[in-house]
Amino acid sequence: MAKKKWWRIIVAMICKECWSTNYFSTINKAITPKLELKKYCKKCKKQTTHNSKEKLK
Ligand SMILES: [Zn+2]
Repeated sequence: MAKKKWWRIIVAMICKECWSTNYFSTINKAITPKLELKKYCKKCKKQTTHNSKEKLK
């Protein structure tokens, strides 16, 4: 019997403009494969789009 997996993974939120990792978040991959958030970036000193990036470990 196949069990449905509802695993949560930790992702790094990376600024699209300067590529620095500013936030960490957890997502449910089954529901949200990709996450995009508008967050404040300390390096850019403004709100930028942050993309989620899976941590392999
Ligand atoms: Zn930035």
